[in-house]
Amino acid sequence: MDYVQTLRSSGFKVTPQRLRVIEYIMSRTPGHFRAEDVYAEVHRIEPTITMATVYNILRTLQKSSILKSFELKGATWFETNTGTHANFLCEVCGEITDLDIESSSLISSVSEKGYEISDSSYILRGVCPKCSKNH
Ligand SMILES: [Zn+2]
Ligand SMILES: [Zn+2]
Repeated sequence: MDYVQTLRSSGFKVTPQRLRVIEYIMSRTPGHFRAEDVYAEVHRIEPTITMATVYNILRTLQKSSILKSFELKGATWFETNTGTHANFLCEVCGEITDLDIESSSLISSVSEKGYEISDSSYILRGVCPKCSKNH
């Protein structure tokens, strides 16, 4: 996916700072990251960037449907996997893994009751296969 092109076609300018953030998220795809993670890395290359700017850029990328966000462990996490999936948090190693889920029956049962879903995030917690093997 060409994020620069997507950003442009959503009506946003591609500034050097936005470009740095895009480079970062591309290097972290697939993966999950917080605004602090982006800031720590981008700030080294672009010292004038502030935490608030990073946060604004991430929200812009979200508006362009490049990123999706969810709340976990008291933080806002971003990811480029915008498709329907569950984020599995391993309570042992802290790793967040994408898992494919069949959500269509859940969505249709909610829709039948008249609720319109515009966004969703599924969080599962437990122990990942790697950690359960070591126990
Ligand atoms: Zn684990
Ligand atoms: Zn995910």
